[in-house]
Amino acid sequence: MYKTYFNYINNNIIVEMEQKIITGKCVSLSSEGKGIIKVDKDIIFVDSLLLGEEADVEILYKRSGVLYGKIKKLRSFSKERVEPLCKQATACGGCCFQNASYKYELEYKRNKVKEDLKRIGGIDVPVNEVIGMDDPYFYRNKIQVPFGKDRGHVIYGFYKTGTHRIIPFTRCYIESKESEEILKNIASLMEAYHIDPYEEDKRNGIIRHVLIRTSWATKEIMVVLVTNGDFFPSRGKFVGDLKKKCPQISTIIQNFNPRDTNVILGEKERILYGKGYIEDTILNLKFKVSSKSFFQVNHVQTEKLYSKAIEYAALTKEDVVLDAYAGVCTIGLLCASKCKEVISVELEHSAVVNGKNNAHSNNITNITIIEDDCTSFIQQYKPQVDVVIMDPPRKGSTPEFLNAVLTIKPKRIVYISCDPSTLSRDLKYLKNNYYINCVQPVDMFPKTYHVETVCLLTRK
Ligand code: SAH
Repeated sequence: MYKTYFNYINNNIIVEMEQKIITGKCVSLSSEGKGIIKVDKDIIFVDSLLLGEEADVEILYKRSGVLYGKIKKLRSFSKERVEPLCKQATACGGCCFQNASYKYELEYKRNKVKEDLKRIGGIDVPVNEVIGMDDPYFYRNKIQVPFGKDRGHVIYGFYKTGTHRIIPFTRCYIESKESEEILKNIASLMEAYHIDPYEEDKRNGIIRHVLIRTSWATKEIMVVLVTNGDFFPSRGKFVGDLKKKCPQISTIIQNFNPRDTNVILGEKERILYGKGYIEDTILNLKFKVSSKSFFQVNHVQTEKLYSKAIEYAALTKEDVVLDAYAGVCTIGLLCASKCKEVISVELEHSAVVNGKNNAHSNNITNITIIEDDCTSFIQQYKPQVDVVIMDPPRKGSTPEFLNAVLTIKPKRIVYISCDPSTLSRDLKYLKNNYYINCVQPVDMFPKTYHVETVCLLTRK
């Protein structure tokens, strides 16, 4: 009755179900924004089903004891259901809230933070309303698009979630509008010059991905053509034509990625036109952004998030700040003018190099940037700091780091997190010694289920 096969991407066993329809009501939402229906002992996760809605659901497969299905027929509609701007949202899978009102989406995100704090951290504190966007579309300043072939024609789009099948698009409602025209022209020039897209299974062809970055402040645009190697016939003519058709492009780079990998960018690159980087600002600081730099993708919300973090840090000219998990030191550099000294710690060599350049170009000298693992650094040096600002990756921090923070006793901790579940786990370590004064979610990634949170903790 059930067919079993391996899903090689997640290495999970998935049981494909024989076709089956279940009717039920959405009683809650999953951590990925899917509607949850409970029927007898079964739990079914359903894409695009909103709270309170009733639907006939076609069961697709079972994973780790949970059934996954799609709406076959909606029997009742939530008043929060809206017509999605993006008609490909279901096929693409990148945006789970295209068919819900923004109010519904922000409420979901606030609840998710509140519930995780309670369930995982045993913390029952008020959670502020999510800081949303006035216009929650076209917000990303970075787009990475795979190119492929369909019936002899060049196509580009997004990989359908969990696969490498390209879902073609002409407009993505969360990416920058500027990229639409550029991608269309690249595809038509590829056809004109017979430049084949890369085919993963055969490992031949030339263009794999196109990455486009846009600057909010200077409006500069960077185009990175990711190729299978150095070989690029008619390169000069191609670049000349692209510049003519899209004069808004400031710089064009060819990045070589011959490896059989999911990592988009290769190590080597060549500047084909312009200066090879773009410049942007965050609040009052300037940043150089190269093809590989880490840079927050939502400019408007990043400024709101960082402003909140700096407000919570309430720095004085006597304060020494530890900027842990610093990235390119954006937060540390923004704090520098408000305090005595900043110590930024970051593991990635390239981010540390970027951070040092950023300090130099902004004439900031009261910052020390250290390339190290935050846990080893804090355990070894036990720096005497007044404020800790920490912004770890999704997996959160470590018990050793948090215990070391408890021993150095900063008066304030500002914790920025992109995953409420690891945030809740980590705050549990700190809650006996620190008050959790403010929990502020910020919507950095509208239309998706991701939520960023900034918290203020003060010593008891
Ligand atoms: N605060 C930055 C970056 C946050 S992303 C900003 O707002 O832009 C998290 C950063 O933590 C990444 O740059 C990652 O390289 C770094 N990182 C991850 N694990 C680390 C560790 N164990 N020690 C130090 N840095 C780490």
